[in-house]
Amino acid sequence: MTIKINPARLWNDIIESGKIGATEKGGLCRLALSEEDRRVREWFVEACRAEGCEVRFDELGNLFARRAGHRTDLHPIAIGSHLDSQPTGGKFDGILGVLAGLEVVRTFNEHGIKTEHPIEIIDWTNEEGARFAPAMQGSGVFAGVLDKETILSCQDREGRVFGEELERIGFRGDDACGDHPLDSYFELHIEQGPILEAEEKVIGVVGGVQGMRWYDITLKGRASHAGTTPMKMRRDASVAAAEIIVAVNRLAQEIGEGALTTTGVIEAYPNSRNVVPSRVFMTADLRHTRVDALDRMEERLKEVVAAICLQHQVSETLDRLWDSPPVQFDVECVDAVREAAKRGHHPLREITSGAGHDAVHVSRVAPTAMIFIPCKDGISHNEIESATPEHVGAGASVLLEAVLERDHHGS
Ligand SMILES: [Zn+2]
Repeated sequence: MTIKINPARLWNDIIESGKIGATEKGGLCRLALSEEDRRVREWFVEACRAEGCEVRFDELGNLFARRAGHRTDLHPIAIGSHLDSQPTGGKFDGILGVLAGLEVVRTFNEHGIKTEHPIEIIDWTNEEGARFAPAMQGSGVFAGVLDKETILSCQDREGRVFGEELERIGFRGDDACGDHPLDSYFELHIEQGPILEAEEKVIGVVGGVQGMRWYDITLKGRASHAGTTPMKMRRDASVAAAEIIVAVNRLAQEIGEGALTTTGVIEAYPNSRNVVPSRVFMTADLRHTRVDALDRMEERLKEVVAAICLQHQVSETLDRLWDSPPVQFDVECVDAVREAAKRGHHPLREITSGAGHDAVHVSRVAPTAMIFIPCKDGISHNEIESATPEHVGAGASVLLEAVLERDHHGS
């Protein structure tokens, strides 16, 4: 017997829950630990209890809704994502992964399917990082990547404290965060990029998440009069910066497929039209799926910056301030997703996530995989973010099949 999720029911959940924190343009403003977050959590808890799930939350407010399995000695197969949003976010980012978990549980109930493992639906606290930085806090503490006390005491821009806000909305639990073993973890998410849509694929089989390194670059030249300093005698920091921007862009071509390079910030000083700039602050963002490629990119970045600065008689400092290594998801879990997509005859594509997700952290403590579906024009973190009911349904079907596969054959 093949059992099928109910796409209309899932779509209805997205629309219904999307009324909590709805914005005029059809999106969401549901910041972590806000009143809207409290309301959507209450909505979700009620929906899960109505399906017979036991709901718990830990000291970071991560929510776990458990459907019992045949065996009590096995850890749960988890399905999750996040219910919070950006201030002008969409109805799908994160929400889809949590509500698809609910739909999987409903489908099991409807068909009287009892899995061997317990199934858990997880809502991770503050994935977006819009109100409290950094992002992915609940899953980060869960996986031991972020420090619990630091997160509980962090403040939003109005000075309100994370731990107190969590308490206020009634979701500060007693369970120790992270003291909660998982058999495996599956996260369904919109791609948040344009690739699947452009290639008319329905399912992205996510092999991992690319690595990322951030650099601060400061160039020091010499301020001088724009009308009296001969060109040959200048030490112009902005000319060096301009060449570095181009060089950073070319670095991606040089390294080839998979490399992404960006200069997102450039600030010239004194920023006066008739002064040769004495100083420039700029950034570089380098991304790749492989550490060896990132190492090579870093080496080349240092070389080109040094060479350009030497030529313009400008001194430079280059600091790496963040290094997020690439993540490879679990081979068996990724296989389960791929096989599920094939069985469902969905056009699929292997893909690497360009954005961070709770799954990045969770993959450190449990075998993990992600499923992507297309989003309209590749746009997200925007109120116009959109996905089709058909793709949402396909994603949830693949999720259900992958979970069953894991339940039958997983370790
Ligand atoms: Zn998300």
